[in-house]
Amino acid sequence: MQFEFSTAGRIIFGPGVSAQIPDLVAGFGPRAFLVLGGTPERFAHILDQLTSRTITWQSFSVTGEPTTLMVQAATAAARAAMSQVVLAIGGGSVLDTGKAVAALLTNAGDLFDYLEVVGKGRPLRKAAAPCIAVPTTAGTGAEVTYNAVLGVPDQHVKVSIRSHLMLPRWAVVDPILTHSMPPGLTASTGLDALTQLIEAFVSNKANPLTDGVCREGLQRAGRSLRRAFQDGRDANAREDMSLASLFSGMALANAKLGAVHGFAGPLGGQTLAPHGVICGKLLPYVVQANVRALQDRAADSPALARFDEVGRILTGRSTARASDAVAWIEELCTTLGLPGLRRYGLSEADFPTVAAKAKNASSMKGNPVELNDEELVNILRQAID
Ligand code: NAD
Repeated sequence: MQFEFSTAGRIIFGPGVSAQIPDLVAGFGPRAFLVLGGTPERFAHILDQLTSRTITWQSFSVTGEPTTLMVQAATAAARAAMSQVVLAIGGGSVLDTGKAVAALLTNAGDLFDYLEVVGKGRPLRKAAAPCIAVPTTAGTGAEVTYNAVLGVPDQHVKVSIRSHLMLPRWAVVDPILTHSMPPGLTASTGLDALTQLIEAFVSNKANPLTDGVCREGLQRAGRSLRRAFQDGRDANAREDMSLASLFSGMALANAKLGAVHGFAGPLGGQTLAPHGVICGKLLPYVVQANVRALQDRAADSPALARFDEVGRILTGRSTARASDAVAWIEELCTTLGLPGLRRYGLSEADFPTVAAKAKNASSMKGNPVELNDEELVNILRQAID
């Protein structure tokens, strides 16, 4: 057996740890570039503390999921300010923007020199500038992954800039920052984490280290996503979900993902659906299709035993099987009530194109069984409403 495992340089976790942010920033120098979400005033106290430590800072606000245009604009500002450290506080959109800016602060040239698929795909040569990644959603785990997913507006796709040199120097995971998420956001981001844990656990690229991380994350998401959705002030449930998200990022960065994420790139580029909604809507149908395809075409695949184990972890029943995992996920998704993808612009006419793009997506390579065109289209048909 051979495997590699990489994650953020250092991880601090726990309620209240975000109080350490000003000191962490100061440790990297007096010029900081801040990437924040749509309501930067929520972090005014941190900005005040940076100022009182004589740190000069510029900030960039990310609204919506990040695009290449946003990253180019933010990079120009960070380069002009000769920023030494990037502090990103927000959801996955903010963290990915921060990671991309940190990479381009030390690597000359344009974003498209390094962007996969639609760019030149050149490798980064230099370690990214120090990036401190502070998640405020519990879903993406982007604080410990080494890519940034960016929309390319004129090409209707989402692609990554990716390099191990982009791993954040610090991941500061403070569950208290997630308490303000409304139920719908808790649901969609939490389902993203659950999807990442399941896909990494059944991936044909899983290893014993990612397995351990996935089992722990699945237990926590299994017992707490519904609770966090029903009561956003339930601190224990929020803590479980922050850990589940962190672990999902550690797992996906090292074990890759599967069909849900194979679809997420094309659907994210072609529709206005948020990433978490795409994942949550597709998850039950992808799990169902994978289990059926494995039973029909690869009954001796170890992935079937993995799905059985997912069933046992999520239901808490020692006799549960893969079919119980499917039923549990379907019931959870019904409770969380995510809108169908039609609402975000997907129509039946898009199915063949989306399925074809998903089939060739890099995430599809980690899926435990190859799904055919009919199965892929059937997944989309079930997720549209
Ligand atoms: P997001 O960052 O897009 O945020 C969604 C909304 O939630 C925004 O309006 C934001 O302002 C708001 N928000 C964030 N935190 C909040 C809080 N605590 N309280 C209230 N509102 C809050 O959502 P996300 O799901 O975290 O990130 C999605 C992005 O992450 C997508 O672009 C996706 O492609 C990317 N992603 C990246 C990775 C990776 O490894 N790099 C993994 C998964 C997803």
